Amino acid sequence: MSEFKELITIVRTAVNEPLDFIPLHAPRFTGNEKKYLAECIETNFVSSVGEFVGRFEQMCAEYTGAKYAVAAMNGTAALHIALLLAGVKSEDEVITQALTFIATANAISYTGAKPIFLDVDKETMGLSPIAVESWLQENVEMREINILPSSGHLPFNKTTGRRIAACVPMHTFGHPAKITELKRICDLFNIPLVEDAAESLGSTYSGKQTGTFGKLGILSFNGNKIITSGGGGMILTDDEVLAKQAKHLTTQAKVSHPWEFVHDSIGYNYRLTNVNAALGCAQMENLDYFLQLKRELAERYKSFFIDTEFTFFTEPEDCRSNYWLNAILTKDRQQRDELLEFTNKNGVMTRPVWELMNRLPMFSDCQTDGLQNSIWLADRVVNIPSSAPVPGYGKKADLMEYEE
Ligand SMILES: *Cc1c(COP(=O)(O)O)cnc(C)c1O
Repeated sequence: MSEFKELITIVRTAVNEPLDFIPLHAPRFTGNEKKYLAECIETNFVSSVGEFVGRFEQMCAEYTGAKYAVAAMNGTAALHIALLLAGVKSEDEVITQALTFIATANAISYTGAKPIFLDVDKETMGLSPIAVESWLQENVEMREINILPSSGHLPFNKTTGRRIAACVPMHTFGHPAKITELKRICDLFNIPLVEDAAESLGSTYSGKQTGTFGKLGILSFNGNKIITSGGGGMILTDDEVLAKQAKHLTTQAKVSHPWEFVHDSIGYNYRLTNVNAALGCAQMENLDYFLQLKRELAERYKSFFIDTEFTFFTEPEDCRSNYWLNAILTKDRQQRDELLEFTNKNGVMTRPVWELMNRLPMFSDCQTDGLQNSIWLADRVVNIPSSAPVPGYGKKADLMEYEE
């Protein structure tokens, strides 16, 4: 119990939260947010037209180094479109990790494809290249066939007869997965790589931003992410044709014309509003500042947890993590539950990792591998408060009475 109390004190001191109840992750508005939102209202451009959308896209492209960035109403919608553009069709199969947020698996399902849930690495919590390679070697046969935009020798699942149409690694809590190794394996099997970088804006692997390794990548600007546009997402790609198709599909597939309403395929109303983009632009201006503060917070946590029985999860080798959500490992599931119980009762929000996807009713019939690491992590991971500790934003930690 005393370690739990110390944990609460360090959280209260480090996070600088204005509320008595310390949430897992809250947004910080310290820049031009009000000014840009006022501009939207003053100019009457609050909806799907306005200059902030283009500006937000350009800022994201410049920041990540992607050639193109296309805005969408949220990260889930962005991932749906990215998968369609990678060529995922109904009746296909898509590889992803069992340990992820539901949006990854849902976006795959929207295309009509079925997810395959493979294991993650213990050091990254991201999709394991070893798991992917051994699963593919055992379960896939290559057939010579063209299913545009893919062509040549394509991978088919020997058991189900279905095509493996994409692989979607997710950079868990902002820690980069072993993405170059995943890309090498996907290239070997002619599988398009689509990165779910919803949690990892600002994280790099070998100096390159996550979300820019695959054919397409996506970001999220939901309220709990490292920066927020209220709600929002972004599709990243280096391919000009895909970027144009992404814009087209997210805007009802309308053919550009001064007055005619002509649409050339089934599109989606997935566009981001100017109001959301305005908020996103102001937040992007402070991304580096937030990253610096969050890395400082992670350092404080790291030095605190060295002397405890918990293990603080640090950035993987050769990576720079945005430390979106800090995570610790307890010694087992029982200790995890005791910690969750005590901290949540005492005003500090903590959370276990998501229920593994294959354990949810709608995905219970999906293929998996042994998921050894995923199960081990699911029993032990606890997320602790991680909002950017902006100086002056909060108040000092008070002396507390504890409820036990
Ligand atoms: C947040 C998130 C998304 C997208 O979420 P939206 O709320 O739709 O923006 C997708 N995948 C993961 C792993 C996420 O954490």
